[in-house]
Amino acid sequence: MKETVQIKQLAKEYGADLVGIASVSSFDFLPPDSHPRFIQPHARSVIVLGFRIPRGALRGVEEGTAWQTMAGASPFPTASICVETTYRLARYLESKGWEAVPLFSHSPDLRHQGVAVSPDKPEPNVILEMELAAHAAGLGEIGRGRFFLTPEFGPRQLFTAIVTDKQWPPDKIFAGKICDNCGKCAASCPAKALDRQKILRFPLAKGKAECYSLHIESCRICRTGILQSPYSSKAEPLRISAACGRACVAHLEDSDRLTNRFLFPFREKKC
Ligand code: SF4
Ligand code: SF4
Repeated sequence: MKETVQIKQLAKEYGADLVGIASVSSFDFLPPDSHPRFIQPHARSVIVLGFRIPRGALRGVEEGTAWQTMAGASPFPTASICVETTYRLARYLESKGWEAVPLFSHSPDLRHQGVAVSPDKPEPNVILEMELAAHAAGLGEIGRGRFFLTPEFGPRQLFTAIVTDKQWPPDKIFAGKICDNCGKCAASCPAKALDRQKILRFPLAKGKAECYSLHIESCRICRTGILQSPYSSKAEPLRISAACGRACVAHLEDSDRLTNRFLFPFREKKC
């Protein structure tokens, strides 16, 4: 227990805003091409680190006056703070003799890029989806608008992970409720890319996520503030700063569901 408190405290000192731990067995619902055990055969735990996207990084987009504020915050998980914190924590774990594999968010379309090295192994790349890892590590829930929501920041964060052979006591799955199915993310989308009438369900470490269906092709050409992935043109763009993501931030703050509070409301004008 003391060790767990210490590792979480260290991760925060290094720069993470959120830290959760999942047992590797909680990913057994995933196929080999997504399972962390196929990256690290002795994996026992996955430490998930969350990094907040400053609310101010959405401000220029929200006001319609400065689109570069979001890009300037470089919020992709390869941003230097995410890399450095994850790397430093991995180094710390390895200094204790526990192998630590740092993982960053990559689009699922980057799976199956190579040839399997043996019949019992999936083809590279094995990609663990960070939202599934964050859920397994008890950090929050996946909302109807397909954003990962935490009680601290709503949709405003990104995740990295470390797969390690050290067994850490896992955190409990998040039992609260953040998304209230308000539909504001869908209503704010000019392309009607989120369909409230069509609910898609997909498995999680415990239970199922229920999300509005999303027409990703519309998001790729969305002009309300998306950030395109620099690594794959087929990846789902980052939608947190787009109309749907900002509507969710405004709604969750207005309904007092987040612990990160501000002096002024995110959205003062009526949309
Ligand atoms: S990113 Fe744009 S197109 Fe996609 S759901 Fe959000 S507002 Fe709609
Ligand atoms: S806007 Fe409403 S329905 Fe959409 S994800 Fe946020 S809380 Fe859920």
